[in-house]
Amino acid sequence: MPDGPFPRQDRPDAPAPASGDATPPDTPGRDAAGAPDPGATRPASPDGAHAARAATAPVPRDPPAPPGTPPSPPRGTPARTLRDADALRDAGLIDPEARAAIAAVAERYAIAVTPAVAALIDRDDPADPIARQFVPDPAELRTTPQELADPIADGPHTPVPGVVHRYPDRALLKPLLACPVYCRFCFRREVVGPDGGVLAEPALEAALDWFRRTPQVREAILTGGDPLMLSPRRLGHIVAALSAMPHIEIIRIHSRVPVADPARITPALLDALDTDKALFLCVHANHAREFSADARTALRRLARGGVALLGQSVLLRGVNDSAAALEALFRAMLASRVKPYYLHQLDRAPGTARFEVPIAEGRALLRALRGRVTGLAWPTYVLDLPGGEGKAPLGPEFAARDGAGWVVEGPLGGAWRQEDAPG
Ligand SMILES: *Cc1c(COP(=O)(O)O)cnc(C)c1O
Ligand code: SF4
Repeated sequence: MPDGPFPRQDRPDAPAPASGDATPPDTPGRDAAGAPDPGATRPASPDGAHAARAATAPVPRDPPAPPGTPPSPPRGTPARTLRDADALRDAGLIDPEARAAIAAVAERYAIAVTPAVAALIDRDDPADPIARQFVPDPAELRTTPQELADPIADGPHTPVPGVVHRYPDRALLKPLLACPVYCRFCFRREVVGPDGGVLAEPALEAALDWFRRTPQVREAILTGGDPLMLSPRRLGHIVAALSAMPHIEIIRIHSRVPVADPARITPALLDALDTDKALFLCVHANHAREFSADARTALRRLARGGVALLGQSVLLRGVNDSAAALEALFRAMLASRVKPYYLHQLDRAPGTARFEVPIAEGRALLRALRGRVTGLAWPTYVLDLPGGEGKAPLGPEFAARDGAGWVVEGPLGGAWRQEDAPG
């Protein structure tokens, strides 16, 4: 989820899409969409080159909180999505003294912590792995020389706004840039946010047209932002349009909604995902605790709706950088019917250095899991190349060339020498 062709902007020049987009779930009393309260801090717009290509409209904003609204809902379960330093402080997620520093981060990067996620955070643990993913840190304003605003070079691979085409047989469609939560390590952090908006109707139709006239593309990958933040109506329109293209065999959606805001997985949303094409949902989760009872229920509904479930995770310092944490994460995924697909090496987006785990360590962690944990749990460990050359597997390898054969290590110990077949 990278640098988009349609970044956030303060004054969108495109008309707002029909109302009903990025709708709230139908649970009473929850906050709407991915939009902040009026007056919430807004991230700065990205560089001018990006802004010039914008074709977006804002996601509708939350209604303002009624005056005198509950300052302190029960610990752990705020009533609304937390979107600024004051809300985080009131929910006990940051020190009151840290308020100004966090407000400065909020000027640059979007914040959102849903009630579902806030409820998972242990306020008594200063190193809580859920808090670390979503609660901002003043370190985000320090960018290292290696960090890039568009760390996987989506910009140059954008044939029309909202589409990224890097591989011959598949392409991304990014219908909006809002997410249920904003991950502090996000590789698209320079463009995602509630103000990033949705692709306005004409831009979306142009993007769908690109898919229509590009028959070598067999797989449409909806990402963003988070596509499950769209209203069922708009999502259903996209799924139906793609399903009607004979050359599209697979529709894949990347989303954090099932874990971060499971109440959005409604019957209407499931209807929107109904298609005769193969539909894969790749769920982004990085810690076993994200698989709450509500998340598991949402995933079960999706599976019953015929959606195949995959998992993607990012290897993150302080979140899942131990064999035990990865084992627990992948086991929790599988127990929720989600097959781990990718473990991503961190993309070096601005202000994310505190999350980086060296590649050698990542390989050793995966090696430790092989053989000990069901093979279903094994993801491919990948790096998305900063030049935009795609995702490369990082190992670990168990086979090494040796003369006219291979030495192959067994995951349970021992090794085998396999000679090349004669001839
Ligand atoms: C990540 C990505 C894909 C999907 O790659 P898979 O290896 O098939 O998961 C496709 N297109 C682009 C542009 C991507 O960045
Ligand atoms: S869900 Fe998190 S990682 Fe994905 S685009 Fe949104 S903020 Fe970035």
